[in-house]
Amino acid sequence: PFDVLIVGGGPAGAAAAVYAARKGIRVGVAAERFGGQVNDTMSIENYISVQETDGPKFAAALEAQTRSYGVDIMNLQRADKIIPASEPGGLAEVVLANGGSLKAKTIILSTGARWRNVNVPGEQEYKNKGVAYCPHCDGPLFKGKDVAVIGGGNSGVEAAIDLAGLVRHVTVFEFMPELKADAVLVKKLHSLPNVTVHTNTQTTEITGADGKVNGIKYKNRETGTESLLPLEGVFVQIGLVPNTEWLKGTVDLSKFGEIEVDAKGHTNVPGVFAAGDCTTVPFKQIVIAAGDGSKAALSAFDHLIRSPIA
Ligand code: FAD
Repeated sequence: PFDVLIVGGGPAGAAAAVYAARKGIRVGVAAERFGGQVNDTMSIENYISVQETDGPKFAAALEAQTRSYGVDIMNLQRADKIIPASEPGGLAEVVLANGGSLKAKTIILSTGARWRNVNVPGEQEYKNKGVAYCPHCDGPLFKGKDVAVIGGGNSGVEAAIDLAGLVRHVTVFEFMPELKADAVLVKKLHSLPNVTVHTNTQTTEITGADGKVNGIKYKNRETGTESLLPLEGVFVQIGLVPNTEWLKGTVDLSKFGEIEVDAKGHTNVPGVFAAGDCTTVPFKQIVIAAGDGSKAALSAFDHLIRSPIA
């Protein structure tokens, strides 16, 4: 069995693996796709000490460093179920989609999250070519340009306020008749001179030419009128979904499906820890996920040295 088994191989899982392996214990990582969301990222300019890199390069570096510590990387493995230890100090089990199972004294869950897509024509085609999901990551790329934000909940309105300080103009599209964000955010949004809000509006297509976004098509749901707005960027902000469906019923999740963790990365199940975008830890970023993964590994080690000897 592993001393520490990590499920998920993004920045959180890789950092957890490196920190755990440096304690000289037996560490494994089972991941559906090693590298995680970073694989889908073009340019990364906010990982401290690395001025600029791209996603595939960053993912390859994560894997190389993790392997250099002799960590057992089991890539292309999806976990389907977790069975907590039946007694303190006992082994927990992770059942894989391929039918296999892995046993470990401690488990770190770092299965990340995925952005919800709006599923209109052009979204997939222009991903990373004007279609973006993370204002903290990609906002500066649109400096001085016109952009849209799809989604008028808290994340959409926060994104619009953030972007309004960087870009020339922001247009917010909300499907429902009213913005769903907190009143204080809506008030702030309406106070900004370079923001337009369309409520009760359905976005129908993201248009482009020469491999990049050049507009958005939308329909007024009351009048049925269709319009085209020329612009250079579209931020889709209709939700970040944690990859935690497989944990329902075993590990406590928030109403958004995020794994509930304390400041040290403990879940409600003894010996099971969690880190990164799949948890309640706020602000989903690489540097945060990496810090969080290292914290969870140190907590797992702490748990191991305090466990009764079997
Ligand atoms: P993830 O990166 O999501 O990794 C999750 C891991 O778990 C993957 O290996 C996945 O395959 C695996 N997994 C999921 N479910 C299972 C399962 N059931 N069984 C086994 N394995 C599973 N952040 C920045 O800081 N800067 C940026 O510039 C930036 N740009 C971004 C651009 C895009 C397009 C996207 C999508 C995100 C961007 N982010 C950026 C956010 C950043 O990528 C995430 O915050 C970070 O990757 C989270 O790391 P994580 O390890 O928690 O999860």
